[in-house]
Amino acid sequence: MPDATLQCSQPPAHRFHGGLVLQHHKADSKVDVLLPVPLPEELVLPLQQHMGQPARPVVEVGQRVLKGQLLAVPEGEFSAAVHAPTSGTITALERRPMPEPSALPGRCFILQPDGLDLWAELPEPLHCERARPEELIERVQQAGIVGLGGAVFPAHFKLRHHKQPIHTVILNGAECEPFITCDETLMHLEAEAIIKGAELLVKMLDAERAIIAIEDPMADVCTAFEQAFQKVNAPMVSVRKVPTIYPEGGEKQLIKVLTGLEVPSGGYPGDLGILCHNVATAWTIHQAVTRGRPVVDRIVTVTGKGVAEPGNYRVPLGCSIGHVVTAAGGYTPQARRLVMGGPMMGVALPDDSLPVVKATNCILVLGEDEIRDPAPVLPCIRCGECARACPQQLLPQELYWHARAENTEKLVAYDLFDCIECGCCAYVCPSHLPLVDYYRHGKSLVRAEQMAERKAEQARQRHEAREARLAAEKAAREARRKQKAEALKNKGGDAVRAAVERARARKQEKD
Ligand code: SF4
Ligand code: SF4
Repeated sequence: MPDATLQCSQPPAHRFHGGLVLQHHKADSKVDVLLPVPLPEELVLPLQQHMGQPARPVVEVGQRVLKGQLLAVPEGEFSAAVHAPTSGTITALERRPMPEPSALPGRCFILQPDGLDLWAELPEPLHCERARPEELIERVQQAGIVGLGGAVFPAHFKLRHHKQPIHTVILNGAECEPFITCDETLMHLEAEAIIKGAELLVKMLDAERAIIAIEDPMADVCTAFEQAFQKVNAPMVSVRKVPTIYPEGGEKQLIKVLTGLEVPSGGYPGDLGILCHNVATAWTIHQAVTRGRPVVDRIVTVTGKGVAEPGNYRVPLGCSIGHVVTAAGGYTPQARRLVMGGPMMGVALPDDSLPVVKATNCILVLGEDEIRDPAPVLPCIRCGECARACPQQLLPQELYWHARAENTEKLVAYDLFDCIECGCCAYVCPSHLPLVDYYRHGKSLVRAEQMAERKAEQARQRHEAREARLAAEKAAREARRKQKAEALKNKGGDAVRAAVERARARKQEKD
């Protein structure tokens, strides 16, 4: 068991392959204060803010709703609920552009706030010690909790579905993207609740321990945890510092650094008895269990030279990105590019009318001098720099050639789906090849092919089932026909015998 008085231990001995040391810009967004965002005139709430199936609406257009009220229930196990971020009226359920590069439309509730911010009656708090693990997981599902590090994987699904018993929970507080500080802020301000959230996760999974991973330079966070451990007796929870190497916050990289174990290609941390959650997810779980509070807002880092007052803001879900930037002092004359997420893995957005969703950990408004010069793209010179930088130990140049050739068989053989799209390869490529774009394209090709194969297989199964059904119906018809013929034959025989009997009787009467 870790010693509760020595929680922020020294960096671990293991390290992962490749990665980059990036220049950080975290000082721009202060981490010791959480700033408010006023309610806008309209909130746009997509039914799909998570991986899996979109949620199913349970309120009507025109209905008045209260803050925290359930608007849409999970559609099946691999889905997540959506709740009202404030009180007001549902004015529409319509398709609106989603916060992604293509801005493709998705179904959204439009909520007009009434300005009162009145809470609905929330579920009763659960007792952290006495509640059964499944009761706690059920509460996680009710509260619409998803992975808040950006992956938005339904948290209850991860807690229920793992191949091996879980012995170690890792809480990811290693925020390796160079501009993002929302998790650092939360850890700084809510260390005690995060430790309690870690304990809840240990209980839900019947695990042995939880490790909260923070980056080496987060001295204030380390102090906050040390102070919190003075108040909370949590012998199963420890805090470990990890070196600041991008992408340290990747699940597989973090596991390697903390435990020395490697998640196999195509595998999951659960295969090793390890489960990773973001620190913000753990905090949200603690809120749901102890206060019945569902996910109605999230902390967003608003930063970059293109925004006047960078900082960390508590943002009601559904606010437009433009509204949040206005709350952060508005755009500066330097503003050039809008990104959701960090500069390495974030997505460039076409405009700021898109809503903040559960995945929005950062709104980055890059200034002119923060954008790398778009250097001309040159042919691959097979220098191998990309392979040296790849934290997944892939062969990025091979993947590039096969993606270019649209050779899906080779892409799968070269483990394309192990690529976490971290961008390290593209960052170091002297030919400035947009490698990650090729991998995304390659993945979409493979997925389309797999989908077509699945559909063909389903069609084949449907055809075979239909043939079998028709054959069974034909056999049943034939059996019925034979039965009827037999019955008629028997009936006919009886009639002849009766006629003979009658004739014999008449003859005897005459004699
Ligand atoms: S770094 Fe760029 S140029 Fe070098 S091998 Fe990789 S893809 Fe080719
Ligand atoms: S983007 Fe993919 S291929 Fe490139 S370094 Fe990251 S994991 Fe490796």
